[in-house]
Amino acid sequence: MEYVYPDYYRQFTCIGGECPDTCCAGWEIVIDDKTLEKYKKYPGGFGNRLRNSINFKRKSFKQYDRRCAFLNEENLCDIYTEAGEKLFCKTCRQYPRHEEEYENVRELSLSLSCPEAARMILSQDRLNLIYDEKKGHSEDYGDFDELLFSQLLDGRDAFWKLIENENVPMAVRMMQMLSMGHHLQKNISEGQLFGLENIYDHYLSEGAANRMNVYLKEKWEKPGSRYHVMKGMFSCLHKLEALSADWPGKVRHYEKILFSGGRKKYEALHQYRMPDKIAEQLLSYFIYVYFAGAVYDGMPYSKVKLAVISTMLIEDIVCATAAEKGELTFEEIADAAHSYAREVEHSDLNLQRLSIMFRHQKCFHIGRLCGALLEW
Ligand code: SF4
Repeated sequence: MEYVYPDYYRQFTCIGGECPDTCCAGWEIVIDDKTLEKYKKYPGGFGNRLRNSINFKRKSFKQYDRRCAFLNEENLCDIYTEAGEKLFCKTCRQYPRHEEEYENVRELSLSLSCPEAARMILSQDRLNLIYDEKKGHSEDYGDFDELLFSQLLDGRDAFWKLIENENVPMAVRMMQMLSMGHHLQKNISEGQLFGLENIYDHYLSEGAANRMNVYLKEKWEKPGSRYHVMKGMFSCLHKLEALSADWPGKVRHYEKILFSGGRKKYEALHQYRMPDKIAEQLLSYFIYVYFAGAVYDGMPYSKVKLAVISTMLIEDIVCATAAEKGELTFEEIADAAHSYAREVEHSDLNLQRLSIMFRHQKCFHIGRLCGALLEW
């Protein structure tokens, strides 16, 4: 079995009561069967409290005001205080550690939705992965498409090369990602799995970024594109399930700051745009966590769109919050990224809805995205 993880993965420690947010509110915490059995037999008064605070039908902790029944007023977990980590269920023990499963491969990551993990992810210079081969039984998923998986891993390396190419403006790198993702999708949808490396070579070749920039400017440049496209994207956020009670209000607040003063004011807010290095880390993160998952649904383009669109949305949230405070700080950026990731990444329903909207909503069309990026 091969384990893949970022080099900072093992350095994570939860900051507990110091955390500006908590991972124990807003979403349903599902309890694994083994722990559920342990909770059923746990002795004493705390055992009674455990059993009274679990929804056995849904196999999850009950919630009050969308907070886990064990989350106390200091935002600390009473299960931890009672018995330490050994009494945690699998979800609580692992979060914010995330695992993607592929045949004979496990890819581990820290979730951007945890504020402390977000700080670690975004403060990296680049995404360095550790590949750790461990002896053990070999898996056979039966219908796992090994050829597609290996092609996607090559593609992922190519996306990282595009993302890290500092000689090319950030917005052009993002347009290249969209274009290469679109091209890749076409071949995969047509069953052409051989020769994908020609696509990667084409986008990585010398002068490719410049040629593409000139072509896209002719085709999609239209003053005011970014304002209209981003306005459309923010309105799509209201179509998602809200995990935190205050999220819809926050989105309305960002929209007010960004769009209520018209296009000129919106453009002026981008004096607070986040550093390219941080945008690189966001793009690399989303590509790492989601792109290879296309082996299961054959849709790499929607994963690339998720990376680019999420970065564009986080950038605008950062501009709105920094404009309000009059300064741009790293903490502000990490906070924007973690709040966004918490809403989008922790709901399968939201990821599905976004994937559908990427195909059908005008603001997510590749031409409009490129038009917005030309004004980035
Ligand atoms: S969100 Fe992260 S830092 Fe905060 S309590 Fe949860 S694991 Fe700890």
